[in-house]
Amino acid sequence: MARGLAKRCPRCGTKGVFDSYFKLTERCPGCGYRFQREAGAFTGALLIAWVFTLALMILPLFTYVLWRGVTGNDHLAFWPFAALSITFAVVVPLVGYPITVSTWAAVDLVSRPLDPDEVADAEAHAAR
Ligand SMILES: [Zn+2]
Repeated sequence: MARGLAKRCPRCGTKGVFDSYFKLTERCPGCGYRFQREAGAFTGALLIAWVFTLALMILPLFTYVLWRGVTGNDHLAFWPFAALSITFAVVVPLVGYPITVSTWAAVDLVSRPLDPDEVADAEAHAAR
């Protein structure tokens, strides 16, 4: 999991598993592991991004409600909290995308270890 969070191959820890900021390589350049093991395998990465984005969007709004409730200040401006929430909605998915993808690849590998055919396939591509 730590390798995934560090944008490394979850199997061997090799760096440089992205062709570009938004594109994971098909295979790990170190061990040959195929990251997308089946169609739709990265749907979980979207779930991770959605959860973190939503959590960070709610935080300023919750802070506003809590602040007003505790202080009783009815003149507290809402717009800075809304602006921060909207900023999180835009920035978090963009900044967090590579981390969520590589982390999801790690989750996938931990939850479904490679079968012997996948190990042989990875080793065949690692040898090139
Ligand atoms: Zn690897």
